Amino acid sequence: MSLLPILTIPDTRLKTKCKPLANVDGRVVGLMDDMLETMYKAPGIGLAAPQIGLLERLIVVDVTDQRTEKPDPIAMVNPELIWTSDELAVTQEGCLSIPEIYADVTRPKMVRVRYVDRAGEVREMDADGLLATCIQHEIDHLNGVLFIDHLSSLKRNMILRKYNKARK
Ligand code: ZN
Repeated sequence: MSLLPILTIPDTRLKTKCKPLANVDGRVVGLMDDMLETMYKAPGIGLAAPQIGLLERLIVVDVTDQRTEKPDPIAMVNPELIWTSDELAVTQEGCLSIPEIYADVTRPKMVRVRYVDRAGEVREMDADGLLATCIQHEIDHLNGVLFIDHLSSLKRNMILRKYNKARK
């Protein structure tokens, strides 16, 4: 396993729509392990392939508390939301590709996601709360969408100014 460098904005790969994977082979399983290791080390609760420069539809998530709970890693190939609740939830989000920036984002509170797992099986999962938020955030990455894109342009520009200033 190896740690992978995580891209940060304004890298254009983070704004690119990713391609579906044709199958889950040894390369993809190896990527899942490398992405999980990279995510835990960061530390983060989700990571999408474009964040490591690969424009492929692959995400990993684990919303358990690393300090107190047993890990529960989930890797999803070609994930798609097949249902979202009308009920919304506001969650403070951050992103490993936009370090040290946090903002409240409104999204459906519950989702059902269909994906291919590391054994190549098609699965469906219902998610609620932080897991639902995290899955939506990571699937957004596969479509070149960042959490700040869900904010008003006024709020987003304010955040980007702060981000750019901190990086000068
Ligand atoms: Zn992110």
